[in-house]
Amino acid sequence: FKIPAIENEPMRSFAPGSEERQALEAALAQMQQELPFEVPCIVNGKEVKTGKLAKQPIPADHARHLCEYHEADAATVASAIDGALAAKAEWESMPWNDRAAIFLKAADLVSKKYRYKLLAATIIGQGKNAWQAEIDAAAELADFFRFGVKFVEELYSQQPSKNSAGAWNRVEYRALEGFVLAVSPFNFTAIGGNLPGTPALVGNTVVWKPSPAATYSNYIVYQILAEAGVPPGVIQFVPGPPPEVVEQCISHPSFAALHFTGSTFVFKKLWKDIASNLDKYRGYPRIVGETGGKNFHVVHKSAEIQNAVLQTIRGAYEYQGQKCSALSRLYVSSSVWNGGFKDLLLQEISKIKVGAPWDFANFMGPVIGRPAYDKITGYIQKAKEAGGEVLIGGTGDDSKGYFVKPTVILTKDPKSITMREEIFGPVITAYVFEDSDFDKTLELIDSTTEYALTGAIFASDRKALISATNKLRNAAGNVYYNEKCTGAVVGQQPFGGARGSGTNDKAGSISIFYRFVSARSIKENF
Ligand code: GLU
Repeated sequence: FKIPAIENEPMRSFAPGSEERQALEAALAQMQQELPFEVPCIVNGKEVKTGKLAKQPIPADHARHLCEYHEADAATVASAIDGALAAKAEWESMPWNDRAAIFLKAADLVSKKYRYKLLAATIIGQGKNAWQAEIDAAAELADFFRFGVKFVEELYSQQPSKNSAGAWNRVEYRALEGFVLAVSPFNFTAIGGNLPGTPALVGNTVVWKPSPAATYSNYIVYQILAEAGVPPGVIQFVPGPPPEVVEQCISHPSFAALHFTGSTFVFKKLWKDIASNLDKYRGYPRIVGETGGKNFHVVHKSAEIQNAVLQTIRGAYEYQGQKCSALSRLYVSSSVWNGGFKDLLLQEISKIKVGAPWDFANFMGPVIGRPAYDKITGYIQKAKEAGGEVLIGGTGDDSKGYFVKPTVILTKDPKSITMREEIFGPVITAYVFEDSDFDKTLELIDSTTEYALTGAIFASDRKALISATNKLRNAAGNVYYNEKCTGAVVGQQPFGGARGSGTNDKAGSISIFYRFVSARSIKENF
């Protein structure tokens, strides 16, 4: 069999009055009317209602909540693990074409049947505007499933290049022995689908703990996978208090791998916990993580100002800066800064509308919750105390939802706290350097933080682009020329960073699939 041609899912533009705009408005209105929903755990395809209820608040309107979910308790997690182990043999031995068909169907369900529901859940529950939700919960989610099938097809075709006379050498890509734990973040519904989906595609079974702040959209993703034909037990949906579910899984002797997206702090802690359990396991667990970032734009004196400003605004403030890839350190050559960049930046930021994400007029919505709001506004305060000058923004309003204004802090100290630490909000710290100090600035970029996720270089002088790329060899896993540092597309820009930003296994590419298989070489003599 040959799999069908794979393309990226086309995106809707939601022009006023368009059918797609009306469809999304209708889905939003319906969800607003029907909420709050009840979300169970799903173990072996069956609903489990533990009665331990937790809420997923609506970030733009914290008096209301989108869903109430049953947190997994220890017994539920134990049966999720047992069920995943029991479901393994049949799932792994299912012909590849059948597994592939399930994920291709899941992508079609995302694209055609559940698109607007997924978007509405992501808009209301995670605070994305329609376009940001579309990139994520429609396009990227469908892409992860479809391209996943293509990547696995390529993986399975990686075979030894030589057969000796009278023998046939081949490699079989087995699923890992044991179960995989997927721990997904709030900020991308698509990552909710990808973290369990990637290991499952190659025959693993997965215990999936979604983020508490994305429970409802992730529950829809689970339902789509089940409707597409993922058998009961293959993906176990266990929302719950993070430490409990996760600790229980990684202390189980059959724990085989962690597929994680979230904070660097938590990832490091889990890595250490896994190490301390090592003697319990049958093998060495695979640890795959995509974590924090402190991503940069560097603007060379030859840069085209308008584009650099536009990309800076998009990189920093789309989805309120809550992407691991979001821009937060801005380095601008002084002739560019004073030659129009600063004025245009502030002028454009002053036009940004912040408000409810379901109102199509708003470019920015709320940040995800109370801890995020406090952390972001706290960093603005710390930046001021450290001598930073707030050029615009700098305030928030948490009376109804968790809104923070798009903020630019100008610093004279390129190693000040908001140049180093991840904020995960709509805050840029800008540093202006002398035109002649471009190389020195590159060294600064490389040495200032523990992270190395994304970065962008703005220059019309190609020599500057190339020299910066060479000097920043290890400072980012994804580099962009004259474009913002966010928005990697599945199948186009494999995504991930190194250093404190993760294991750089590149989501949206074939590379990551190698981490969830254990290869076996077979030589057959005739
Ligand atoms: N892949 C996304 C991007 O390139 C970021 C994913 C994340 O925040 O983890 O913008």
